[in-house]
Amino acid sequence: MTEPPAPAIRLDHVSRSFGEVTAVDNVSLDILDGEFFTLLGPSGSGKTTCLRIIAGFDQPDAGRVLLHGADVTQLPPYEREVNTVFQDYALFPHMEVGANIAYGLMIRSVAKPERVRRVAEMLDLVRMPGLESRRPSQLSGGQRQRVALARALILHPRVLLLDEPLGALDLKLRQQMQVELKAIQQQVGITFIYVTHDQEEALTMSDRVAVFNVGRVIQIGSPAELYEHPASPFVAGFVGVSNLISGELAQRITGSAETFSVRPEKISLQAVEQPSPDGHVSVKGSVRDVVYLGVHTRYLIELEGGGDLTVVEQNRDTTSMDVMSARGRQVRLVWDPKHNRRVSDGGGAALDPAG
Ligand code: ATP
Repeated sequence: MTEPPAPAIRLDHVSRSFGEVTAVDNVSLDILDGEFFTLLGPSGSGKTTCLRIIAGFDQPDAGRVLLHGADVTQLPPYEREVNTVFQDYALFPHMEVGANIAYGLMIRSVAKPERVRRVAEMLDLVRMPGLESRRPSQLSGGQRQRVALARALILHPRVLLLDEPLGALDLKLRQQMQVELKAIQQQVGITFIYVTHDQEEALTMSDRVAVFNVGRVIQIGSPAELYEHPASPFVAGFVGVSNLISGELAQRITGSAETFSVRPEKISLQAVEQPSPDGHVSVKGSVRDVVYLGVHTRYLIELEGGGDLTVVEQNRDTTSMDVMSARGRQVRLVWDPKHNRRVSDGGGAALDPAG
């Protein structure tokens, strides 16, 4: 039998402390060759420290880093087949775009005709053909980030590390660049390791995501797995909006007081006098807050007997006037119990509707 190929990156029981702070706490994970893999977590959860350890800018106190099966823990950054793109671009302001992109080739003494050819190839890849002679100051934020990407990719690293590369861009441009980055990654087929605290960004681009909290990996999975089967209340709350239900209400709904979650878009609002469909969960409440968001509306519902739930509904047949007038109204919340997810057992399993 042939051995499965070594992962592009393996972190093997990696820890790193700064004084009293444990930035990375015994993290083990495998990132496959060609994967778009995201380290997602709140500020200070250890994502950047992990990335710096992979790049070789920082050393773990314990554990090993393997690149394509080889232990590189002791190697300096320039001896690792990885390259990094940072949020602040780090372009040379006095050099033209072409020279910025060709920089790595120049210090490797690659001949000029080949440099020119490869720079043109890279500018095509990042959809900026013909802009070799611009200066960074003549570019938009999105274009600068593309140049930074081209400069990193021209050296054909086997792994590209990206630390919040879109963080400085406005929302619209960021969303556009997310789609482009993913397309470029698929085109070049290189392993991308991406750091972000933005869950939507992580879900949009990644093949798999590792969710970090206080230095630990809480869950690793595809965007759909994390969203539909969060393994802990932390993941349920951090990846998308989630309603956590516990105690008496949970007991009434599932027959057990154990905490479960249900996503806001799985719940429908209807008039209290309308009967709920057979086999569905039905809870009464009143609308405490309404946020009209164009495509959809977010309602905060105060439940009879205490607690509240968030519900999101598409504005298919409703106008902003309709939804705003819902405030204070008595409503019935209805959902199929198959959307209840246990969140305290580490598995994020669907609950047995029978309880
Ligand atoms: P952010 O999204 O804010 O960049 P992060 O998840 O990337 O956060 P890290 O930058 O890895 O988190 O930091 C993890 C913890 O380690 C934080 O508490 C941080 O203050 C601490 N830390 C990181 N680098 C250093 C350092 N060089 N010296 C001291 N403490 C550090």
